[in-house]
Amino acid sequence: MKIRFVGTGGGRINLVEQKKRTGGFVIEGSLKIWVDPGPGALVYGKEMGIKPSKIDGIVVTHYHLDHSNDACALIEGMTGYGFKKRGFFIGSKYSVDGDEKGNRILDTFHGSLPEKVIIGEPGGSVDLGKAVFHIKKAVHDESTTFGFVLEMDGKRIGYTSDTEYYQGIEGAYAGCDLLIVNSIKPKINIYKGHMHTQEAITLIKESKAKKGIITHLGYEYEKVNLEKIEEKEGIRFAKDGETIGV
Ligand SMILES: [Zn+2]
Repeated sequence: MKIRFVGTGGGRINLVEQKKRTGGFVIEGSLKIWVDPGPGALVYGKEMGIKPSKIDGIVVTHYHLDHSNDACALIEGMTGYGFKKRGFFIGSKYSVDGDEKGNRILDTFHGSLPEKVIIGEPGGSVDLGKAVFHIKKAVHDESTTFGFVLEMDGKRIGYTSDTEYYQGIEGAYAGCDLLIVNSIKPKINIYKGHMHTQEAITLIKESKAKKGIITHLGYEYEKVNLEKIEEKEGIRFAKDGETIGV
């Protein structure tokens, strides 16, 4: 199985400036699944040779634009320019149904294209036959945000999405072959709903992941020597355009 990082950036500045790209990542195994396709997913994915028509599903863990902007364009790709009903879309409740003000990502047209549209409910699971998503709690300012542990091809891939470090999170992601952790700021900061570098490292270590990788880096990471942290802590930061094996 492979993970292809179309983009490793997150947050409002990277969303606009694309200092680090915001295309999310693609899991390639028995199923090809695009996770959190923010702005640039379609274009930078194309540069990497990833064909939207070949993907089996799209996951949007919450409706913030750096996770969801290109989702509807990818749905058109996945469904043969919108003419072939196929694939799945798993989204947070607000992404699919909308929040109390009606904000959402999936409009009624794009919601009608995939074969399955599923709301990811923390604590629940989504069985797709070739793969099972175990939906995990996230504490973020989009209150229906979720993370997941994906079981596919005998491997467990964990992805936290945007969340604070909450009590019990190590158990939620225990025993992953690869754990992908989002960290928007390197240091402790006033923004709740995110992990800083040290929390992300602690989670990778405490959950006993075989491999851990940090992504969804905010603009402040531009000033940080990532190699030095990688060497000291034995973890990795994802790089735009890279593919890693699991
Ligand atoms: Zn977010």
